[in-house]
Amino acid sequence: MTRLISILGATGSVGEQTLDLIRRNRDRWQVEALTANCSAQQLAAFAREFGAKMAVVSDEGCLPELREALAGSGVEAAGGRQALCEAAARPVDITVAAIVGCAGLAPVMAAIERGGTVALANKEALVSAGDVMTAAVAQHGATLLPVDSEHNAIFQCLQGNRIEDVARITLTASGGPLRTWTPEQLAAATPAQAMAHPNWDMGAKISVDSATMMNKGLEYIEAHHLFPVGLDRLKIVVHPQSVIHSMVEYRDRSTLAQLGPSDMRVPIASCLAWPQRMDTPMAPLDLAAIGELTFFAPDEQRFPATRLAREAIEAGGGAPATLNAANEVAVAAFLAGQIGFMRIAAVVESTLTRYSAAAPESLDDVLRVDQEARAHAKELLEHA
Ligand code: NDP
Repeated sequence: MTRLISILGATGSVGEQTLDLIRRNRDRWQVEALTANCSAQQLAAFAREFGAKMAVVSDEGCLPELREALAGSGVEAAGGRQALCEAAARPVDITVAAIVGCAGLAPVMAAIERGGTVALANKEALVSAGDVMTAAVAQHGATLLPVDSEHNAIFQCLQGNRIEDVARITLTASGGPLRTWTPEQLAAATPAQAMAHPNWDMGAKISVDSATMMNKGLEYIEAHHLFPVGLDRLKIVVHPQSVIHSMVEYRDRSTLAQLGPSDMRVPIASCLAWPQRMDTPMAPLDLAAIGELTFFAPDEQRFPATRLAREAIEAGGGAPATLNAANEVAVAAFLAGQIGFMRIAAVVESTLTRYSAAAPESLDDVLRVDQEARAHAKELLEHA
């Protein structure tokens, strides 16, 4: 039986890896909609290859290029934020949400409000919207499957168990490419150095987030919403080999861990095939070749982002959305060479100090907090 799939953010790292799995199982999948921001040529090439019904660029200015690239293909082309949300709301068996940043929130909500199954990679959407998103999932009977490797690991370790029996959930963190650097070295880190992740091949923004440890901070908040065990039962441990993707300890002190190669196609496949399993092209895990698995406590002096994330979710209200928005602004500034590496967390902390908002109660509320927090963060950058 073929299954219908839409991929939001199809031209990105997660999007392309999803398409790679589909390419290997073409008879099992039919592609409904593929979206990008402005990578019109790449999007059109994928839409043609996979026979998508629709291709959407979020940036309307890129629509003429998309139309031209799709001429004669029979694929419907559309552009703009509204078209993106309409594409996300089309009925499918599974929607892969792989847009980067809070820009993915409205389309994810559109897929959720249709009551569909959403494989969520777009962690910033859940961090920003938090309870608004989880309430919508419950209200519309949607299913959220975590793509993020850590949350996918936890999801797998929870199968067949009761959440009330969980004593502790431990998120593993690779520590990123700058894990052993001194404060002086960190202050001088370049975007290329911050993006050179030792284990994972990812998009630019999440690579920088891994280097600052903000990725783990965002994941801490994401885990809080996906697995409601209470913040005191959520822990982070640095595990440089990225072999154990996360762990769940139960009240009897039995700990279940999920292990696998550092390749996003494993958790993506877990979501695509859920509740069954499918083949992936990866080699089997060779533990004897890996030899050693090591673990360290996070160093929040050099990498304050996990502390900021913990404080933001403890503070509640609009703080998580503010943290995310300020981080998106600061990472973009770092990638553009406007600020140094250590300024990323500093901008996030200052934004959280200067701006506070009540708990968002709707998608519009979340988007307003996001916009206001961005304005504050940008102002901080201007006066740096
Ligand atoms: P990429 O930067 O590689 O890709 C992002 C995708 O989103 C592209 O298709 C891009 O289109 C699209 N996009 C960017 N901005 C917008 C916008 N404003 N509106 C609509 N679409 C937009 O990101 P990743 O694939 O690395 O990450 C995607 C998400 O998955 C992130 O939330 C990340 O944290 C999460 N994630 C990623 C992992 C990874 O291994 N990469 C692992 C775990 C989670 P265009 O090509 O036109 O710019």
